Amino acid sequence: MTKTIGHWIANTPVPGGSGRTAPVHNPATGAVSAHLALASTAEVDEAVAAARAAFPGWSAASLARRTSVLFAYRALLDTHREELARLISAEHGKVFSDALGEVARGLEIVDLACGIPQQLKGELSTEVSARVDVASIRQPLGVVAGITPFNFPAMVPLWMFPLAIACGNTFVLKPSEKDPSAALLLATLAAEAGLPEGVLNVVNGDRESVDRLLDHPDVAAVSFVGSTPVARHIQARAVANGKRVQALGGAKNHMLVLPDADLDFAADSAVNAAYGSAGERCMAVSVVVAVGAIGDTLVERIAERARAVRIGPGDDPASEMGPLITAEHRDKVAGYVASAREQGAEVVVDGTGLTVDGHEDGFFLGVSLLDRVPLDADAYRDEIFGPVLCVVRADSYDEALAVINGSRWGNGTAIFTRDGGAARRFQLEVEAGMVGVNVPVPVPVGYHSFGGWKESLFGDHHIYGEDGVRFYTRGKVVTTRWPDPADAGIDLGFPGNH
Ligand code: NAD
Repeated sequence: MTKTIGHWIANTPVPGGSGRTAPVHNPATGAVSAHLALASTAEVDEAVAAARAAFPGWSAASLARRTSVLFAYRALLDTHREELARLISAEHGKVFSDALGEVARGLEIVDLACGIPQQLKGELSTEVSARVDVASIRQPLGVVAGITPFNFPAMVPLWMFPLAIACGNTFVLKPSEKDPSAALLLATLAAEAGLPEGVLNVVNGDRESVDRLLDHPDVAAVSFVGSTPVARHIQARAVANGKRVQALGGAKNHMLVLPDADLDFAADSAVNAAYGSAGERCMAVSVVVAVGAIGDTLVERIAERARAVRIGPGDDPASEMGPLITAEHRDKVAGYVASAREQGAEVVVDGTGLTVDGHEDGFFLGVSLLDRVPLDADAYRDEIFGPVLCVVRADSYDEALAVINGSRWGNGTAIFTRDGGAARRFQLEVEAGMVGVNVPVPVPVGYHSFGGWKESLFGDHHIYGEDGVRFYTRGKVVTTRWPDPADAGIDLGFPGNH
């Protein structure tokens, strides 16, 4: 019997009752490992009602109480790192070490949430006028919904709910239907850490449950991470319903390599960043822009390394790269290699057609390297989200920068050079939210915020860090006077300061 995965509402597992399910696969074998219950509107309403009922108590809980739960949660997550990583690897396909890395980066946001008293201190100005003080405070919003993608089934939920609940909100998480189990374990551990019922709920589902969250009058704000078309939909619909929204979308991250760069280091970095997690990272490098005559050498060195990447199931310690998330996605990614060839690119390494012994039904794809990719080829224009690295040639820094700034996305980008002046120019001139200097995947640490520009983010706030705290709270300014006899008297003029 294949198990059915349900929801988590008010600290209780809830079996799905809608009758609709979706298969969850083990991408390394292709087998269906579970059926996922897809929530009905009524089940989403149940989760939102639980979160709403929990809000008055949780938002009034002292900072000491909230942080004691978060510290306990941090300790529990720490002891469950491997269990989480195994779940991630089994449903997502990424290799175990990569899954452990994802958990570690998610934990950084729990660390940040444990320090929330420091971030919520507010501001006080005394004696702004005679005997008048002004305080700026920040308060929680209410029920926050989080909608997350398949590619980081633990880290992206952890980007959201620890900070949201630390700020006093309650939360309804809708994880990806492709790999839901890590999110359920995160919620179970939060209950074990002492989080009161209803503060964190998980509903599994598809578009029906997402749209209900976007329309629900009791949801105050929505954090979304996923593809650009869905991010656009989330923002438009949630804003139309008066909600606060941050919607992080897709990406096409460029790595600019200048002629003075250390080419071995640049080739290592390109391979790690392009093929790690089978290219299914929103911060993966998917385009190398090679400047000047080093292009041929750089492509050779990347190709040498790409051919050596060991591909196999995520639970085999020898594997460096696992399968893709679904058979359909694997075939779509392979299609970009074929179309790039037809559209004028040179296929230097062709990873399509790979099979892994003993895992013939797994969703594996080898790594591909495409050189001299025309800017109008589909492989350049679309987000591929797989192990395909495009190389574009440029004659100068200015030409390379124009290529990058011409992209409709602006998530992450990186420059490889030994020239500090060029790196400094790039930091200031490139249109992207996160920039690496000799760092190919510049995912900010928890206490700096994460977010892209252009079609990589819809909304005003980046996620986690200081922006996260601002997103999950709203400002209030309190003006106080304790009257003195000198303040008595009638004065119908506009209140002035003196
Ligand atoms: P996706 O957009 O297909 O799905 C994300 C979430 O939205 C899932 O929970 C899914 O159930 C839901 N969803 C899907 N279609 C929907 C629809 N039509 N209406 C309402 N909800 C819908 O993304 P994915 O395939 O799970 O993840 C990969 C994408 O996420 C890539 O584009 C990647 O770049 C992006 N991503 C971005 C970041 C970032 O920080 N910018 C981080 C991780 C992933």
